[in-house]
Amino acid sequence: MSNISDNIKQVSTSLQQSAQQFHRSVDAIMLLAVSKGQSSHALRTAWQAGLSDFGENYLQEALEKMSALSDIKPCWHFIGPIQSNKTQDIAQHFSWAHAIERLKIARRLSAQRPEHLPPLNVCIQVNIDREASKSGVAAEHCLELALAINDLPRLQLRGLMIIPKQRGELDEQRQPYRQASELLASLKKSSAALASLDTLSMGMSRDMPAAIAEGATIVRVGTAIFGARTPPRP
Ligand SMILES: *Cc1c(COP(=O)(O)O)cnc(C)c1O
Repeated sequence: MSNISDNIKQVSTSLQQSAQQFHRSVDAIMLLAVSKGQSSHALRTAWQAGLSDFGENYLQEALEKMSALSDIKPCWHFIGPIQSNKTQDIAQHFSWAHAIERLKIARRLSAQRPEHLPPLNVCIQVNIDREASKSGVAAEHCLELALAINDLPRLQLRGLMIIPKQRGELDEQRQPYRQASELLASLKKSSAALASLDTLSMGMSRDMPAAIAEGATIVRVGTAIFGARTPPRP
């Protein structure tokens, strides 16, 4: 546990080095602490070490941590796939949802977003490697979905999220991230309504520099901050 603040220093240093190397502004890259499988105590330690954004994949687990941490006010991101029966809680308790892939889910989130909260920030998950087993929309369906989501009153479409398959070297790792970056640029150009998209949620513990090199604005880092996690409850 005491390693967490050391880990955060290391990850922050590495983030800064990559930003410098690839001519990116550090301020334009959010370090999202992926906290699935971690205790609320671990999250509190990360908060005290300066992190303010947490990414959770499992609703029940996240809600428990939110109530254990109700004295602090982190920004909560839902980064897992979303089923219909979870939209209400996600709309009420989170600031971001990263893995939108269906209009039906987006419509429910918009309809269920409470009036007193700002619009829910969302990203479309793109299946950039076209893996049959992976979630996300195919790149060619992205524009249509983006335009439809953009019309929903209580969502703020921010950009794209990807989870590429594992690759070896930096140059290889950069490839799917470059595709995501180009796809975002093409969406912004295709329609004035999408010109303000500003988010690429991409890069994890194993490949953060590659994602930063290609324009990541949110890197989602779990293991490098918290160490190994306990597997999800069934
Ligand atoms: C678990 C997870 C991460 C973090 O992965 P690490 O390898 O632990 O950094 C990032 N994004 C998503 C969507 C995840 O589910």
